[in-house]
Amino acid sequence: MDKAGRFVIDTHVHAQRHAAGHSLKEKQKSTGKKGEFDYIDLDSQLPTITTYDNSPRLLYDMDRYGVDMCILQSAFGMNNDINVDLVKRYPDKFRAMAFAKTTMDAIVAGEKEWDMKDAIEELDGLLSTGMFCAIGEGAPAIPETAANLRRYSYNMSHRMDELRLVMDLARKHKVPVTMHTGTGGGYPITHSRWPEDWHPYWIMDLAAEYPDVTIVFSHGGMQGGYITDLVEQCLNVASNFNNVYLETGLYWTDLYYRALRYPNVGPEKLVWGTDWGASLPVQTRIGQNPQTFAMQVHNQGIIKHQCDIMGWSLRQIERLDISQDDMNLILGGNALNIFKIEYPLTRMFKGLPNVGR
Ligand SMILES: [Zn+2]
Repeated sequence: MDKAGRFVIDTHVHAQRHAAGHSLKEKQKSTGKKGEFDYIDLDSQLPTITTYDNSPRLLYDMDRYGVDMCILQSAFGMNNDINVDLVKRYPDKFRAMAFAKTTMDAIVAGEKEWDMKDAIEELDGLLSTGMFCAIGEGAPAIPETAANLRRYSYNMSHRMDELRLVMDLARKHKVPVTMHTGTGGGYPITHSRWPEDWHPYWIMDLAAEYPDVTIVFSHGGMQGGYITDLVEQCLNVASNFNNVYLETGLYWTDLYYRALRYPNVGPEKLVWGTDWGASLPVQTRIGQNPQTFAMQVHNQGIIKHQCDIMGWSLRQIERLDISQDDMNLILGGNALNIFKIEYPLTRMFKGLPNVGR
């Protein structure tokens, strides 16, 4: 495949994979549950399972599909160490976001109660190393163990104050913050654990209070399925605030057009990022609109192969009939600018005078 743009960055990638089989079998023994494992079983185990470096498969896909660089994110139990190691080994291919893994592990292990200040302190230390380009995946939140789901509940002002601590830290280190939106369908993401995931409008206030801090909506409101209410909300926020961007790698072609048409959004506010490595299979529903979309579907069981989200996503975006300059912004230029990634040439991206300097 020819490259889709001058410089292609997948801004949402998980280069670690969980070795889940053993842990799931142990759980089955202890609970007496029979039959196949489902996403709910898996989700409850993920924070405690060790992960391994899945970069051989990632590098293969990057090579196949002409993706120049990936921004590595940690989530559900993935650690910072493997990502930092990859950044060191492949400085021209990878960047990493900082994730409050130690704090979350301590809570999963029952060693302490959730306090956002612990996560902030950990992130502060990580960002001070200079090895990270942003905060993510999403803002820190209590890990998704079954016990926590029952025990913990946010009210809005409490969570907003937690998020303000994240914004303060991003301001201090001059890095962007990601705010997660949507669900893949399989793993439960609850209101009480990660409320901003379901309430993109909350981010309006943070965008207004911190105009100098860049916010990227992970998935731009579409992580799975084809219900678009969160996309509409994200578009509304991005349209109102210059510092808010939408990650679009799970958009199908028509959703891109919706964002491209909307006033104050357009190609200047979109960044491509697929969630590669998150086990998000693409569903095909012939004759339906959209005909394809990403979603974890319960009755299909847990996906065991490395689903090809990068190939699907690139085909969705390459179908757009827009100028290559606009395409180059979405596929890499905006990300180079937001994440302050060096680039060998100036004046290659429309309206981005800082790229290449
Ligand atoms: Zn992700």
